[in-house]
Amino acid sequence: MACAVTLAALSVPIHEMFAAGDAGGSASSLYAQSAAQAITGALGECGTAPSNGDDFCSQRENLSYLLLDARSRTMLLASNWPDPESPIPLGSLVKSFTALAYGEKHGFKYPVHLCRGTASGCWRPRGHGRIGLEAAIANSCNSYFRMLTHDLHADDLQPIATMFGLQMPDAGSSGPSLAGIGAHWLISPLALARAYVELSQRSDQPGVREILAGLAQSGRGGTGAEVDRALRHSTALVKTGTAPCTHARRAPGDGFVIAMLPANHPEILLMVRVHGTPGSHAARIAGEMLGRVE
Ligand SMILES: [Zn+2]
Repeated sequence: MACAVTLAALSVPIHEMFAAGDAGGSASSLYAQSAAQAITGALGECGTAPSNGDDFCSQRENLSYLLLDARSRTMLLASNWPDPESPIPLGSLVKSFTALAYGEKHGFKYPVHLCRGTASGCWRPRGHGRIGLEAAIANSCNSYFRMLTHDLHADDLQPIATMFGLQMPDAGSSGPSLAGIGAHWLISPLALARAYVELSQRSDQPGVREILAGLAQSGRGGTGAEVDRALRHSTALVKTGTAPCTHARRAPGDGFVIAMLPANHPEILLMVRVHGTPGSHAARIAGEMLGRVE
């Protein structure tokens, strides 16, 4: 019920409200501005034209999104969040930063792991088989990240959280909760979106190249495949996640996706949340939205 009420109020560009003082004085790029117009326009046309039978129209009441200019980090659009700076569980979106924290502790050497599916705690019943970091990011393998966080504690996240401007996990939390399983690491959608922009610009930093390769692989054929499928001229860096629902009208979970476009040098970041669906479905909606941007 809260969704329907806040959507109308927030579906206009609100960069005037949020960007002042935090954009470093740089104007947003033309690409980013036209992306914001295309997304606002596409959503505004929902229900008015026969071609607008898209998922994002039918899911509009369940849809929240953020659009950032990746150069200036200005927030260009924010729709249907009570407050995009208020921390909430973001599921597997945190895995990229979990991987960096592990890397810091282990000389950026990432093991290969055997995912046995349900038997080793993965969301994919038959598992992912032998899997390394890139594919584990691309396929959001919970078994891999259970292994990676086995000896990881909240304090180990401090350097990465500070570097990327992320809120910290609950004090004393450890293990899978540091990979976004459960609700012990709450981060604001805006902070995580900005952290992903930062990540995309740090490809020279140890560990980051592998993670970015995983995000590209996610778009090509992993959990984010619906994004690239919807794009005709470019590819995206994608991460999906499914988190406990925080809406007043409770659902089993909320699906999230972060997509940065174009993959080799992101100009924009779109973050989408869809109430009551898995992250892979959020990726389809993000793909439809970005298909209007190209
Ligand atoms: Zn797996």
